Amino acid sequence: MTESEQLESLRTMIELAERIVVFTGAGISTESGIPDFRGPQGVWKSKPPIDFRDFVASEEVRRKSWELRFSDAYKLTGAKPNAGHNAITKLVKDGKVTHVITQNVDGLHQASGTPDELVIELHGNTNYSKCLDCEKRFENEDIKKKFLKNGTIPYCDGCGGIVKTATISFGQQMPVEEMQRAEQAALACDLFIVIGSSLVVYPAAGFPQVAKQNGARLIVINNEPTDLDILCDLVLHQQIGPTLSAVVNL
Ligand SMILES: [Zn+2]
Repeated sequence: MTESEQLESLRTMIELAERIVVFTGAGISTESGIPDFRGPQGVWKSKPPIDFRDFVASEEVRRKSWELRFSDAYKLTGAKPNAGHNAITKLVKDGKVTHVITQNVDGLHQASGTPDELVIELHGNTNYSKCLDCEKRFENEDIKKKFLKNGTIPYCDGCGGIVKTATISFGQQMPVEEMQRAEQAALACDLFIVIGSSLVVYPAAGFPQVAKQNGARLIVINNEPTDLDILCDLVLHQQIGPTLSAVVNL
């Protein structure tokens, strides 16, 4: 298939579908300048991620973690949604996309206008923090101010629990509710589109298989091959923003 035939095929499958689930990974956000933590240039190569158990066990580790967070090593500050996020939001507003399942923690789907309740964040969100015991929400700006001023490490003012960014760390249990919602969405869709994920992180990467086994069509748009390409009805190894923009006619 030529590139234009692939685009035509993608457009047709989206037109025919009634309940699309989009599944996004780091590849969509690299086009907004956010590096893939896991990639060859990723921050995790030079600064390995902190394990959840170490974070909970040691105040020193927590101090290091907040230092790293506020040094902006992750280059999350100021990132804006790109053409890929905007195209997905258009499909949401057209009533085509029922849910966006994402491995990203940057909140860019919501920033582009996809309603928060339709975004299922499998790895949490880095833009705010939560108490690990009572789940009370804390804003990172407030934590940052106190941390930079006198090195204060945050504890919950409600229950005294440890406060951590609302992301799912290595060694931390996957969020039960989000996993269930994602599975239900995958089972209910008639088209599942994987965008910018190499599908190597399980259990999240199982959702496309669940959808396909339940009769949905499966599309992968990613800049490199994935293990599931063989299962797909269509595979595009293309840039995400330009591909989706061309198809949804923004
Ligand atoms: Zn608390």
